[in-house]
Amino acid sequence: MDRMTQTEPSIFTRIIQREIPADVVFEDDEVIAFNDIAPQAPVHVVVVPKTAQYRDVVELAAADPQLLAHVVQVAKQIADERADGEFRLVFNNGEAAGQTIFHVHAHVLGGGLAEGTLGSK
Ligand code: 5GP
Repeated sequence: MDRMTQTEPSIFTRIIQREIPADVVFEDDEVIAFNDIAPQAPVHVVVVPKTAQYRDVVELAAADPQLLAHVVQVAKQIADERADGEFRLVFNNGEAAGQTIFHVHAHVLGGGLAEGTLGSK
């Protein structure tokens, strides 16, 4: 289905509603965080605002900077618990940038990442 005409709940909404299982590592009223199903680093957790209102980080930043700041704070907490406290925070923004799920989320990547490896090319 074209994402512009998407009416179904996103995979992430279905995870939030416990319709799809996930390895949840953190949850509060505003966000949920779980291990990515296809990890790209020793630690790869996705932090997802529970609201499905924002398709990407640009929309989230414009509408609710406090919620974006909370996502960053949760990412830091996860990195403190699961990596060495240092982490890469990735928001794919748009299809050409690799975004596949249009329900805003942050990738928390950690665990011995090399310099100069931001992307695959
Ligand atoms: P995007 O490509 O939109 O930035 O990120 C979507 C991420 O969600 C991908 O890294 C993908 O591996 C992950 N993902 C997709 N479906 C599922 C799922 O059902 N469970 C989990 N845990 N992760 C998923």
